[in-house]
Amino acid sequence: MKTALHWFRRDLRITDNTALWQAYTEGDRLVAAFCWDEAILKSPDVGPARVHFLLRSLEALSRNLESLGHRLIVRHGPPEQVIPGLAHEVGADAVFVNRDYEPYSVARDRRVAEALAGRGIVLRSHKDSVIHEEREVLTRTGTVFSVFTPYSRAWKARPVSWPVPRLGPPKAPPPVVPSLPLPADARELGHPLAQEVFPAGERAGLEALDRFLEARVFDYDHGRNVLSLEPGTSQLSPHLRFGTLGIRTVLERLQSARAKAPTAAGQKSCDTWLSELIWREFYLQILSNHPRVATGAFRPEYERIQWEGTDAQFEAWCAGQTGYPIVDAAMRCLAATGWMHNRLRMIVAMFLTKDLLVSWQRGERHFMRTLVDGDLAANNGGWQWSAGCGTDAAPYFRIFNPVTQAEKCDPDGSFVRRWVPELRDAPSDCVHAPWNRPLFLTKSRYASPIVQHDIQRGRCLAMYQAVKGASTEPRTPDTLDE
Ligand SMILES: Cc1cc2nc3c(=O)[nH]c(=O)nc-3n(C[C@H](O)[C@H](O)[C@H](O)COP(=O)(O)OP(=O)(O)OC[C@H]3O[C@@H](n4cnc5c(N)ncnc54)[C@H](O)[C@@H]3O)c2cc1C
Repeated sequence: MKTALHWFRRDLRITDNTALWQAYTEGDRLVAAFCWDEAILKSPDVGPARVHFLLRSLEALSRNLESLGHRLIVRHGPPEQVIPGLAHEVGADAVFVNRDYEPYSVARDRRVAEALAGRGIVLRSHKDSVIHEEREVLTRTGTVFSVFTPYSRAWKARPVSWPVPRLGPPKAPPPVVPSLPLPADARELGHPLAQEVFPAGERAGLEALDRFLEARVFDYDHGRNVLSLEPGTSQLSPHLRFGTLGIRTVLERLQSARAKAPTAAGQKSCDTWLSELIWREFYLQILSNHPRVATGAFRPEYERIQWEGTDAQFEAWCAGQTGYPIVDAAMRCLAATGWMHNRLRMIVAMFLTKDLLVSWQRGERHFMRTLVDGDLAANNGGWQWSAGCGTDAAPYFRIFNPVTQAEKCDPDGSFVRRWVPELRDAPSDCVHAPWNRPLFLTKSRYASPIVQHDIQRGRCLAMYQAVKGASTEPRTPDTLDE
């Protein structure tokens, strides 16, 4: 009898799971396993919001497996010992995994494959978390794209794969081997309790997808740029990050939704949303082809920037005490919920790097620790884009003005009022710039701005130009504020 062991990592679902389906169909007996890896749990990049989401997703996965008659075997320890040990214990012929492209995971999987090979067991890895991976989307000369628009065009020209079937009942009873109970909450894993913002698990992911595709996707072009109580974006990123939702399922359902779009504008919004999913793959292929971005700027000259910002300024940014209402509201929302809207991520990242002149890498780390969807590839890509040192054509002299940005995405100030109680009674004409009403500012006890945007913009340009050279000076003032 052939025994196939499926090792779950960032694919916590039983539907549309490539490696799980392969293990199920190729083996006579399926063993499903998860391994708590201390190197990940104790990493300074991992925080309570993500651990909480992971734990709840694992509970759901375990229930889903049990409902079919399977069992999730949970172990704890270094995967290069645990997985080969378990494979040996259950008599597995092969271990099945879905590929993970982060540098740590690539090195880990290499160690696991070597240890398995030592016992005569093969590690079978599958593409699953993306439609097109690593070196599948290439330029005409066979190189990796480093600019999004042509990458996206080439991505769309390739055929898309469709979902694989849902796991079926066991063909043979699961083995009787010891398994650890899942911890009751994040505290047992060394993390504080986190507030649950998004329901976790496979069913929650599918429901969130269907809710979004029912109507909101048709207004995405507008909704993604404004902050409102009813979210204008899908909020699926934690599900895509932990694989509680399969990307092929997302694309299949998006295609059906697009066919039912009530207007041409609705169809266009569906296409815009598809582009966001392609951004996700763009940054993943950048990380897997250029793993050095995990520790440095994509454009090496930016490594030489002498960041002038202080620890106190960085701490004020983290605490939402900069005196810039939209920045503070966004950072307080992040601290309380583990979530931040994409537009706000761009605003606060630009503010940290280009107003406070603090290294993007400090912000990147803070985001990784705090975000429920913290994902190395997307987060690194987002930070390098905001700092202007990344792959994209976005120039370093693109500097957001936090006040005009706030007026566009939070026109009535309701987001700021919700997260910055000091400004709850702010008159509408100054909620985004309370310093324009000095008497109100004093009475509100809200912080005064810790820097002056116009002055910092000049300092930022000088700081970047020092490493770039004079040839890349801004062309017109219009390029400064977007
Ligand atoms: C500084 C910064 C840091 C970021 N850090 C992360 C992160 O740690 N994890 C993360 O998933 N995204 C990150 N993003 C990208 C983006 O902000 C989030 O994916 C998005 O806000 C998630 O909300 P949503 O699911 O409602 O997105 P939607 O607008 O509904 O988009 C659908 C999906 O597309 C993907 N996506 C959308 N925009 C991007 C993008 N710019 N880059 C990569 N993928 C994208 C996400 O998987 C998202 O769930 C970051 C962006 C910036 C500017």
